[in-house]
Parts: sequence; C-alpha cells; structure tokens
Amino acid sequence: MAERLVQHKHCPVCKKAMSTEKETCSEDCALRHKIQIKDRKRTMYFFYFSMVVLVVVLAVQFLGI
Ligand SMILES: [Zn+2]
Repeated sequence: MAERLVQHKHCPVCKKAMSTEKETCSEDCALRHKIQIKDRKRTMYFFYFSMVVLVVVLAVQFLGI
C-alpha cells in the first residue's frame, strides 16, 4: 500500500493519478502541458523585460538625463 503511494504521481495538467514514467497522463495533457510551459516562459521573459525597463527608467530619472 505504502509502495503504491510512493510510486504514483499526478498529471500536472488534470491532476489525475498516473504512472511515474510518464510526464502527463495523455497526449492531450502533454500538449496542454507544453502550452503551459511556453506561457510560463513568456511570462518570465515579460517580467524580466519589465524589470530592465523599470531599472533604465529609474536610472534615467535619477541621473536627470
Ligand atoms: Zn492529465
């Protein structure tokens, strides 16, 4: 029983229990998972870009250019 609990994991997309060898429970979830990762990366890039812009704006204002 304990072994079964250790060996199963949940699909990151639909949270269904599935085997540990798989990334997602189905092809459909694999596709959705890829899209989720892409979206997360895009959000990260946007966040970093915003930070850079903010720092530049603050630096320009601080220096009074
Ligand atoms: Zn799934």
